[in-house]
Amino acid sequence: MKQGFKRRDLLKAGCAGGLLLATGLARGADSPATPFINQLSSLRAPLPKARGARVVVVGGGWAGLTLAKYLKRFHPAFDVVLIDRHAVFVSCPLSNLWMAQQIPLEFLTHSYLDAARNNGYLFFNATVIDLDRTRRRLHTEQGYIDYDYLAMAPGIDYDYARLGVEDPGDEYALRTHYPAGFTGASELLTIKNKLQSFRGGTFLLTVPAGNYRCMAAPYERACMAAAIFRKRGVRAKVLLLDMNPDVRIKRDGFLRAFKTFYPDIIQYETSVGITSVDPTRRVIATDFDEYAFDDAAIYPPVRASRLLERLELADLNTPQKEARIDPFKYHLIGDEHLYLCGDARSQPFSKSGNTANSEARYVAEVIAAHAEGREIPWRSPQTMCFSGVHIDPLEAMSIIAFYRYDKQQKTFAFDRTHMVEQWSTRIAQAGLAWGEGMYRDMFYSG
Ligand SMILES: Cc1cc2nc3c(=O)[nH]c(=O)nc-3n(C[C@H](O)[C@H](O)[C@H](O)COP(=O)(O)OP(=O)(O)OC[C@H]3O[C@@H](n4cnc5c(N)ncnc54)[C@H](O)[C@@H]3O)c2cc1C
Repeated sequence: MKQGFKRRDLLKAGCAGGLLLATGLARGADSPATPFINQLSSLRAPLPKARGARVVVVGGGWAGLTLAKYLKRFHPAFDVVLIDRHAVFVSCPLSNLWMAQQIPLEFLTHSYLDAARNNGYLFFNATVIDLDRTRRRLHTEQGYIDYDYLAMAPGIDYDYARLGVEDPGDEYALRTHYPAGFTGASELLTIKNKLQSFRGGTFLLTVPAGNYRCMAAPYERACMAAAIFRKRGVRAKVLLLDMNPDVRIKRDGFLRAFKTFYPDIIQYETSVGITSVDPTRRVIATDFDEYAFDDAAIYPPVRASRLLERLELADLNTPQKEARIDPFKYHLIGDEHLYLCGDARSQPFSKSGNTANSEARYVAEVIAAHAEGREIPWRSPQTMCFSGVHIDPLEAMSIIAFYRYDKQQKTFAFDRTHMVEQWSTRIAQAGLAWGEGMYRDMFYSG
């Protein structure tokens, strides 16, 4: 995606604007008003003065909300500010169940103001646009904030180019007409509306290659889509095109669920090398074939949030354009005042909410220890994921796993994995209780 302006241009413009303002020339009677963008870099964000070392957390997702709460918990003297561009939190985890009307929207929707009030930090509804690491100054569209520590958790972005979609117009058409449903609330609402009003034919879903967000969710979504169509009595096929050679997680369970519940609805194709998508003709081209569809939710491969690239933190030589961080302490290499976690991390952990939550608790402790001149031993994040396969009654499977560092391979691998691929209503109930517990942890005190 092309940027409207480059960060250096903004800073330059901002400096020039600041200088003009300082010399009193900017708003002279005869001169035109200085564009707001030129004044932006010298504008302080409308926040209370810091009452201690200020830690700014970027991104109010699963990682950022947890960081903000536990930074305050582990080091109460920190003055913590959580920034998110959205005013309301809507959970991605469990959203497939909401699409299939197994839980209400209220279950997924929470207030940032409650989270901030209950946990003693500030919430700032703003968009981060620039960073001056030398001055430890973060810029938003509402002004700058100086920090002592910066903790970044901006999540992921889609990488449509890896589906062969390079033209911004085509990408826009896909984002709007066939959204993936793996980042924002509007995407989720659109997909739910599509599934609940589909009149029949082929509904296309895709599974990306690489380390994409929530390994199990595309397979769960196929089950939920099929269940919705059956319940509505629609003659429809769910075409699930997987860029991978096999189901990525809970393999036996998902394959058995497709066969047991939806043999006449789900068509599952593996090792599909998607080369292009034509949103107008509604055709997806692969290495060997073309598939026509009537409607779709197309999930492209993902990369770390483009914000990291914009702030010149991303290593563009990595396949998913992540930042180079210390894999155990999470700080940017060479900067122990800038930390990064959640799905934007460079470690190959599962991109999931529970992983982000457990990891962010640990990172909060690392930052608190740094401020106190201590170090703490490394702790593995914990991945926990429940997947619905059947509705009315809801039945689900689950996985819990940790990670260990393999010194020879110099990477992380799954450790102590506990997978239950025999679905049941009991696991489904445990999944809902897990979600409730997570929201309580992120939004309430205690
Ligand atoms: C359909 C679906 C089902 C899932 N199911 C599960 C599940 O069962 N279990 C599980 O554990 N996980 C699940 N996940 C995965 C989970 O949602 C993610 O792993 C988790 O949200 C990652 O947290 P994060 O904080 O890293 O990123 P996010 O939650 O995406 O948060 C990033 C935040 O950064 C903000 N941001 C980005 N850029 C800026 C900017 N410039 N300025 C200000 N704010 C910014 C965004 O607004 C966003 O709120 C699922 C995901 C989906 C989509």
